[in-house]
Amino acid sequence: TSTTVERDLKAAIRTIPDYPKPGILFRDITTLLSDAWAFRRTVDEMVQPWAGMKIDKVAGIEARGFILGGAVAHQVSAGFVPIRKKGKLPHKRVSIAYSLEYGLDEMEIHEDAVVAGERVILVDDLIATGGTAVGAVTLMRQLGAEVLAACFVIDLPDLGGADKLRQLDVPVRTVLTFD
Ligand code: AMP
Repeated sequence: TSTTVERDLKAAIRTIPDYPKPGILFRDITTLLSDAWAFRRTVDEMVQPWAGMKIDKVAGIEARGFILGGAVAHQVSAGFVPIRKKGKLPHKRVSIAYSLEYGLDEMEIHEDAVVAGERVILVDDLIATGGTAVGAVTLMRQLGAEVLAACFVIDLPDLGGADKLRQLDVPVRTVLTFD
């Protein structure tokens, strides 16, 4: 990302202090999504290293990962599969418990969402502690998928999530960094 583009994309993100809990600086991407240039440019930057590669599926993490993941899937001509919070998916599913920056949760995917050997890119808006993304990688690998990469708009490097993914041999792509 060139510094000018990075500055303009950063300016499109709204920061809400003490949401949803005291001490959390919530990075609100709705303002970026509503800006036509910023949305398109962000999606382009997220997929840039994998442009032209054969990708079978994009897995998006509920809920902001659905918006970005749908756009990414269209961009790379892949299918889209949702990773959802517990109790939302109607068909046979596999689930995993995971820890959040601000709580605990459980996520699920349909057991037939990916087939063993498929090449998958994981998408979410932001990586903080990495609990969510590590859970999603674990689900993907349980189904036999090859996780080509994990892509995020925002990295919070101080919380170490991207490093956790790299330790699991998952290449990480982030567009913006907030220290
Ligand atoms: P983590 O599992 O700690 O990496 O947290 C990542 C998930 O929580 C993503 O789905 C984010 O949407 C959300 N999240 C965590 N921290 C923040 C934050 N400071 N601002 C906005 N979303 C966040």
